[in-house]
Amino acid sequence: MIAKRSFDALIVGGGGAGLRAALQLASKAHKVAVLSKVFPTRSHTVSAQGGITAALGNVSEDSWHWHMYDTVKGSDYLGDQDAIEFMCRNAASVVYELEHMGLPFSRLPNGKIYQRPFGGQSKHYGGDQAVRTCAAADRTGHAMLQTLYQRNIAARTQFFDEFFALDLVRDAEGYVLGVVALEIETGQPWLLEARATLLATGGAGRVFRHSTNALINTGDGLGMVLRAGLPLEDMEFWQFHPTGIPEVGCLMTEGCRGEGGYLVNREGERFMTRYAPHALDLASRDVVSRAIAQEIQAGRGCGERGDHVLLKLDHLGEETIRKRLPGIRELAIRFAGVDPVVAPIPVTPTVHYMMGGIPTNLHGQVVTPMRYGPEEAVPGLYAVGECACVSVHGANRLGGNSLLDLLVFGRAAGERMLEYLRDNPYPRPMPKSGPEPALARLARWDRTDGGERIAAIRADMQRILQTHCGVYRRDDLLREGIEKLTAVELRMTRAALEDHSRVFNTARIEALELENLLAIARATLVSALARTESRGAHAREDFPRRDDDHWLRHTLYFREGDTLDYKPVRLKPLTVEPFQPKERRY
Ligand SMILES: Cc1cc2nc3c(=O)[nH]c(=O)nc-3n(C[C@H](O)[C@H](O)[C@H](O)COP(=O)(O)OP(=O)(O)OC[C@H]3O[C@@H](n4cnc5c(N)ncnc54)[C@H](O)[C@@H]3O)c2cc1C
Repeated sequence: MIAKRSFDALIVGGGGAGLRAALQLASKAHKVAVLSKVFPTRSHTVSAQGGITAALGNVSEDSWHWHMYDTVKGSDYLGDQDAIEFMCRNAASVVYELEHMGLPFSRLPNGKIYQRPFGGQSKHYGGDQAVRTCAAADRTGHAMLQTLYQRNIAARTQFFDEFFALDLVRDAEGYVLGVVALEIETGQPWLLEARATLLATGGAGRVFRHSTNALINTGDGLGMVLRAGLPLEDMEFWQFHPTGIPEVGCLMTEGCRGEGGYLVNREGERFMTRYAPHALDLASRDVVSRAIAQEIQAGRGCGERGDHVLLKLDHLGEETIRKRLPGIRELAIRFAGVDPVVAPIPVTPTVHYMMGGIPTNLHGQVVTPMRYGPEEAVPGLYAVGECACVSVHGANRLGGNSLLDLLVFGRAAGERMLEYLRDNPYPRPMPKSGPEPALARLARWDRTDGGERIAAIRADMQRILQTHCGVYRRDDLLREGIEKLTAVELRMTRAALEDHSRVFNTARIEALELENLLAIARATLVSALARTESRGAHAREDFPRRDDDHWLRHTLYFREGDTLDYKPVRLKPLTVEPFQPKERRY
């Protein structure tokens, strides 16, 4: 028997994006539920280290318009300029709001919020390095998540912790009426109804073998959207962070380089002087990751296998490291076996962030694509945070802009949902068959013992993506990747048919997550194969140049028949003049 509850608004995901949106709704006395597959403060937002970007100008002169320029350039001109203007204009206000909620930011001697330089930040539209990222030491995400969680408790948001959302429920007219979820501890399925549903399920970095992402980042919201017949946008764009610890994947924040750290190859050379003579180690992440990949390829990598470079921090002195990068020191000692106070840290490009996702507008409304006529909002469905593509990050995200994205668009989506609830005061009738597809999906994995088999399938998928869709891509590599993935998908279908006698809930959850990851893996490979140019994080060996004539457009991937569609980049900002695409140099 399915259990039922109903709310005004349902938020799937208790990370920064979900909690910021929930707070907007709950503080206006709406009945709001947040569903999370882990305890909310364990969401991946908790591990954000470096900070949140806003042009406060606390350390050096700054302006939101410079921030906008840097973000447009960082996106390799694929970001939508109206959304970028909206985000950069609202940045200071969401940061001050958090400060007033009690977020314990680090402080400058004059008491103002501490800011550090991050990659791709400039003054005067490409001039000197700007200092724009607001930080609470190297634990900014942790501080942010705790603050938002406490505020939600005070606002009486209702939490469903360790509930796993399976699928959206829609009626015949396409309205989203809520989700079907599984209570992980008991195995009880629930129908959670709401007039407005927001997806804030975070990233999907676990589709790759080496990733800085948590194990829970399996892109469940993206799978839900694909199964509902809606497309995903720009799935070929995955950010490789230049400084992950090899094999482990653990992140060494860009803040390390912001505080003055730099990269060296096996000859001890500071090689970024050759790749980005102006911005050096604080060039945009795609640029630094490609530089490291080239150094390794040229045989200048470090270690026995020559598979990494070194991040030097020892010259900063123990005092700075202790004060500004205490978490990094701890992680480096634990996961790389080196104390950065005395020795450099081995690092290599590691999958970090998904620029693509569920297509939305500035108000967090999920939009249907143009193939069905003009772009329209899906009634009752919203998406915010890393799972969404608004698109402010385009082909490459700048550090510190994700936490900002969560807050700005979390608040905006909450506002738009309030309007929607006002305009739609009564719940729509739930069709009898509403939860059936989700329950059928659940039943397929009812009696699998998963374990070995699911883990093995997942590992093979991760290897395929890592090998065939890495920092550099090529037609033949991608095609081969798609072939291999088809074989892996077949194994997954067979695994679902097998009838084992032992049932473990965790294995079932892993199988359900893997279904989502596989769908994302396919979306990624198919979209990457189609884009025959190099832009931002998507670097094609066979098409090394950016091609604005053909590719200044977003990709839309549909699961049905692996089809693609495209939509133009919105080059027109809200109030200011557009930044015209030009060659990107750092
Ligand atoms: C190591 C690391 C460091 C980073 N550092 C920075 C930084 O310094 N600055 C910056 O701007 N960005 C940083 N980022 C990126 C940024 O932290 C993330 O993009 C952002 O926190 C994502 O927030 P979110 O709310 O969208 O998702 P998350 O915080 O990942 O939350 C997702 C939520 O969805 C829930 N969920 C998922 N699937 C389901 C399901 N099926 N059912 C129920 N619930 C579900 C999860 O339980 C979780 O609560 C970093 C990322 C990483 C990995």
